[in-house]
Amino acid sequence: MRVNIIGGGLAGCALAYVLKNNGAEPVIYEASSCLAAGASGNDVGLYNPRLSAQFDGMSQFYSDGFFQALEVFEHFGDAIDWNPCGALTLMTNERRIKRFRKTMVSWDWSGDDMCLVSAQEATEIAGIEIPNECLYLPRSGNISPKKICHEYARGIEVHLNHAVDGLDALEGDVSVLACGVACLGFEVAARIPLKTVRGQVSYVAQTEVTKDLKVALSYGGHFAPARDGVHCLGSTFQPWEERSDLRDEDDLANLEKLFSVFPNLEGNYNITDRRAAMRTTSRDHFPVIGQLSDDVYISTAHGSYGILSSLVSANILSNSIVNGGYGVSEEIAAALSFTRFKG
Ligand SMILES: Cc1cc2nc3c(=O)[nH]c(=O)nc-3n(C[C@H](O)[C@H](O)[C@H](O)COP(=O)(O)OP(=O)(O)OC[C@H]3O[C@@H](n4cnc5c(N)ncnc54)[C@H](O)[C@@H]3O)c2cc1C
Repeated sequence: MRVNIIGGGLAGCALAYVLKNNGAEPVIYEASSCLAAGASGNDVGLYNPRLSAQFDGMSQFYSDGFFQALEVFEHFGDAIDWNPCGALTLMTNERRIKRFRKTMVSWDWSGDDMCLVSAQEATEIAGIEIPNECLYLPRSGNISPKKICHEYARGIEVHLNHAVDGLDALEGDVSVLACGVACLGFEVAARIPLKTVRGQVSYVAQTEVTKDLKVALSYGGHFAPARDGVHCLGSTFQPWEERSDLRDEDDLANLEKLFSVFPNLEGNYNITDRRAAMRTTSRDHFPVIGQLSDDVYISTAHGSYGILSSLVSANILSNSIVNGGYGVSEEIAAALSFTRFKG
């Protein structure tokens, strides 16, 4: 079965990888001159599930994504800069304390995969001072989204500089729209309520204090352990912005957010690089995955959790395309479907 995939970011490349492993023949069409040209082009990303207080269908979706991803990351290893360093989610206020204590109980993960740690325990784990109690995911960490796109697409037919503007001209059995907000340009998806959220990530040189950081920190922002002397510090979240120009004030906003939670890290930082792009998201901030018509599918709106969400979505779509069923509960299929926005 030949499957046209429109878009060469995490959504498109992960799907191509899974389809190929399931015996199909995926073909990627990418508008830019390289893969991972959009939101997926960062050098460092955090793979953490989207943590909810109650465990519902969408928690199952992100939970499945986490464990599926560990197997894939293990396979790719150094080629994707995999650093399973663990992640501390800081409980910085009453709302987060309540929420993540509930997560701990309702998610019911094994103690090896999720536990609560005091500020003192977190400090020992992190190698720098942590001011709050944390939810600790020892097997979470960082990968390079850009590199994993290239690994996913290895051995797959890719057409770069090929902006698809209609599906009829493409050969193949089915097509999958995996092109972020550009899905709206296709009649079959035009009425799905998708929007963009700008984000800028900053790369900062390590300092005497930060060089000891051993885990990824999640606090509303994200601070990764240094790689080759440079930390990834992210990200701004700007729903009202649609341009991807690079801005000094966004680097400052990333630093100020870090200092607001870790006053002991305050100081002068050397910004070595930065990157801005548009996330695509939906009205309820969950992805839009599934079949749109007889021969057209969609995978978009991965929001801020695209590393895990793109992979679990790829497995769901591949099941549907190759075997004729999503392979997930009706609750999850309905929560992902574009039909949830009707009425
Ligand atoms: C600053 C920032 C930080 C982030 N940090 C994290 C993180 O730490 N962890 C995490 O899990 N997620 C993170 N995300 C979110 C994650 O990057 C996205 O969810 C993910 O990249 C979305 O992948 P995608 O393939 O849907 O979209 P994209 O990567 O935007 O890919 C869409 C592709 O489609 C192509 N395209 C568009 N139109 C056409 C057309 N007509 N024909 C052919 N190709 C077309 C585009 O050129 C693009 O390459 C972050 C995002 C940003 C912006």
